[in-house]
Formats: sequence, C-alpha cells, structure tokens
Amino acid sequence: MKLFSIFGDPVSHSRSPLMHNCVFKHLNYNGAYTRTHLKDGTQLRETFLNLGLSGANITVPHKEEAYKACDEIRGFAKTVGVVNTIINENGKLVGYNTDADGFMYAIQEFGKIHNILVIGAGGTAKALVSRFVQDDLEVTVLNRSAKRLESFKDIATCSTWDDFEVKKYDLVVNTTSAGLKDEELPAPLEIITKILNNTSFVADAIYGKLTPFLHLAKDKNITYKDGSDMLLGQGVLANELFTNHKLKKADIQKYMAKSFDL
Ligand code: NDP
Repeated sequence: MKLFSIFGDPVSHSRSPLMHNCVFKHLNYNGAYTRTHLKDGTQLRETFLNLGLSGANITVPHKEEAYKACDEIRGFAKTVGVVNTIINENGKLVGYNTDADGFMYAIQEFGKIHNILVIGAGGTAKALVSRFVQDDLEVTVLNRSAKRLESFKDIATCSTWDDFEVKKYDLVVNTTSAGLKDEELPAPLEIITKILNNTSFVADAIYGKLTPFLHLAKDKNITYKDGSDMLLGQGVLANELFTNHKLKKADIQKYMAKSFDL
C-alpha cells in the first residue's frame, strides 16, 4: 500500500486526507492518506523519508521549506519557488506546485478574465500572480504593508492601502488570511466598498466559510466563490501525480468532489 500525508502547522483542519482517501476508496487504489503535524519545516525531508511516504502535500507555513527539501523541482513550482506536492521517485523527492493551476480551474466558470486585483502578497498571491502573468492577464496587487510587495514590482501594479487607486476589474481575489480565524476584512471597509463597486466577480482563497469579504460581495449581488474549488482543483492535480496518471481525471474529480459533502 502506498502512503501519503499532508504536512502543516496547524494541520488538523485540513480536508486533504478526506479528499484523497475518498478517491482511493472509490477507485480501488491501494493507497492511504494521513496528516502530519510538523512544527519545524526544516524537518520535512527527514520526516517524509522516515514515514516511508510515496507522496505528500504541504500547507501553511512550510511551502517554501518544501521547495528546499526536494532533489528536483518540476513545472510551475520552479517559477514560484513554492512547493505544495512532493512525489517520491525511488528515493528522489520531486516537487510540484498545483495551487495556481487549481485556481485557474476554479475560475473557469467566470469566462474570459483580463483584469485582476489580488489582495494580499503572501505565498498564495505569489503563486497566483505568477500564473496570471503567464496567461498575459493584467494584475494589480494590493497589500496592507509595502515589504512583501517588493517581489511583485516587476510583474504587476502594486499598491498599499495608502496609495491605492481603484480601477475596473473582471475579478478580485482575496489571498490574505483576513477572515480565516477572525471577522476582519482584507482592507479597510472604505477601500473594499470601492473595489466591490468596480468588479464583476469575487473569489476568496479561504474555504468552508463565508468570510466578511464574501459576505459584502453577496450583499452586493456579485457572483462569488470561496476557496473550495481551488482546493478541489489543486487536489485533483496532486492526486494525478500521486497515482502516476493511472486514474482518469474525471473520476478523480467526481469522487474528490463527493468528499466535500461528507
Ligand atoms: P501568507 O502568510 O503567506 O500571507 C498572508 C498575506 O495576508 C500577507 O500579504 C499579509 O499582509 C496579509 N494579511 C494577513 N492578515 C491580514 C489582515 N488582517 N488584513 C489584511 N491583510 C492581512 O499566507 P498564504 O498566502 O499562505 O495563505 C493565505 C490564505 O490563503 C490563507 O487563508 C490560506 O488558508 C488560503 N489558502 C487557500 C488555498 C485553497 O486551496 N483554497 C490554498 C492556499 C492557501 P502583510 O504582508 O501586510 O503581513
């Protein structure tokens, strides 16, 4: 049996074990997926190997350490320096990033998007903005403080709350953790109101709850989605890697989506 795990701190809230085990069970794949609470990200490689894992997902705050833990990095993870999926190829750890493509999958239903505002400048924003730029989308990044905006200056229009000027957007995405464990908005109400008055669609990376940001979007009758489809999208892509593309993507998607009802 192949063993997989998610690493994070905290990790008890993660839906990944349920998602992947649901696929393994329904498609008769000889695998099991568990969770590992890891406080020190530098212990990731050793813990992965000691557990005899065939693959893993990595969540907050270890995605950058995961990049360092790998022997080889493939695909989009090379561009962003952030890894959320590791595959054990005969003792060689190979790192991938499926978060950004998972998000692209999630926003397909909004149709053609040209102009995006990303609120937040952390790891998730980094992956999404790089992916949007690859697709030639026009991107603005708005963050509470200036420091993290430095890494976006060459590829996007950057603003803090102090110098932000609103434009028209097709989509606004909240990638901050505001609203995750609190009832905060990702920027002051005055700014958020202006933004919501100038966008067609809204998305939040946070899943499983209506954040105050999504609540306001809902009140304004703007089409919105939380991070569940992003989670599903990255999970489907990771499962394809775990099972070495032996299962049909449509089947993975069907049973992984079912796990959200459990
Ligand atoms: P990081 O810690 O890397 O970045 C956090 C960002 O949020 C920073 O830009 C920070 O601003 C900003 N921020 C934090 N608190 C506030 C606040 N109260 N008000 C305004 N801005 C704030 O986090 P990640 O990018 O790794 O994760 C962000 C969110 O995305 C999390 O909620 C996570 O759960 C979710 N996520 C969801 C996924 C999914 O599949 N649906 C996948 C990955 C992440 P500053 O620079 O000023 O500190």
